Amino acid sequence: MRFATKAIRAGQGADPATGSIIVPIYQTVNYIFDDIGRPHNFEYSRSANPTRSALEQCLASLEEAKYGLAFSSGMAAVDAVLSLLRPGDHVVSSEHIYGGTFRLFEKVYAPRGVSFSYVDGTAPEAFAAALRPETRLVWIETPANPLLQLVDVEAVAAIAHARGARLAADNTFASPYFQRPLAQGADIVLHSTTKYISGHSDVIGGAVLTNDTQIFEQVRFYQNAAGAVPGPQDCWLSLRGLKTLAVRMRQHEANARRMAEFLAGDRRVEEVLYPGLPSHPQHELAKRQMDGFGAIVSFRLPGGLAQVRWFIQAARLFLFAESLGGVESLVCHPATMSHGTLTPAERERIGIRDGTLRLSVGIEDADDLMEDLDQALASSGK
Ligand SMILES: *Cc1c(COP(=O)(O)O)cnc(C)c1O
Repeated sequence: MRFATKAIRAGQGADPATGSIIVPIYQTVNYIFDDIGRPHNFEYSRSANPTRSALEQCLASLEEAKYGLAFSSGMAAVDAVLSLLRPGDHVVSSEHIYGGTFRLFEKVYAPRGVSFSYVDGTAPEAFAAALRPETRLVWIETPANPLLQLVDVEAVAAIAHARGARLAADNTFASPYFQRPLAQGADIVLHSTTKYISGHSDVIGGAVLTNDTQIFEQVRFYQNAAGAVPGPQDCWLSLRGLKTLAVRMRQHEANARRMAEFLAGDRRVEEVLYPGLPSHPQHELAKRQMDGFGAIVSFRLPGGLAQVRWFIQAARLFLFAESLGGVESLVCHPATMSHGTLTPAERERIGIRDGTLRLSVGIEDADDLMEDLDQALASSGK
């Protein structure tokens, strides 16, 4: 089956009990045993639940993975991957990663004896230089938030493997529709399914995908042992969202290209950051490693905080909010939102200036979205 078919059918055969076409919400904790030591099928819903199993199978199929595990949030999925580490282990991470991931690294795992090094994700040789004998894991996020830098998955996988480390890739921004890092050498892919996979800004969730049986067994053990599992209703919402992933991603991207090209051609805008633009420094890598460029577009206004404030107040369709990946368009201000806890010097060093805005381009009519950007730029230019 191809992608759009799998999104609708994988893991989702007719319900064996009733013939229901749609996977039911199995809102149950426990299941009957046929005899001593013989559960009928499922036992207890922390360990496994049929609605969750359908979601896990569908996600695995979309990432071309053997195994999939669903979690109650993207952060729970990140935590489950980190559970593979022991005190004394070392992680090399690209420096542009989700703020919550950085917080979990530094505030939870570092005090427990895991150490972290951060490198420029655009330079594969920087990963090689940072690897140590005790490096167990290399962590990447590509494209990265909010400046859309790319990591060369194949190159970094080869570097990690040559030194006996595993590669984990957070694939949230691209979604499996545009990028499948396992096929490029990553050992683990994870998602905040809260974003494109569920797609409607109405459910928090996460997932871990892998082809490695040992990793799967360990992460599944942790999923059951620590228990950060999604409820059946949440799994059902994610399955419902997934059915339209292919059509949504195509429209998200078409709209994002229009916005990126419009902004790039506008003299009121200082710079546009989008992997789909030939001006993006890694445009060639994007074409090689992705099947599309995604729908996050960042840009810089010359007038700093004052102009940014005008812009977000004037924007009508682009709602001023955190998060991304829903059908509705959003604008966020990384310097005060996702990266607000960094010092101004740290932000400057990684290129997040006061004038930087990030769009999560939705699937509304592109002409309406463009008119909104145009009028917001006009009011903020006053
Ligand atoms: C949102 C996000 C997360 C965290 O996911 P939650 O579902 O909010 O817990 C992790 N990584 C990336 C890239 C994200 O965008």
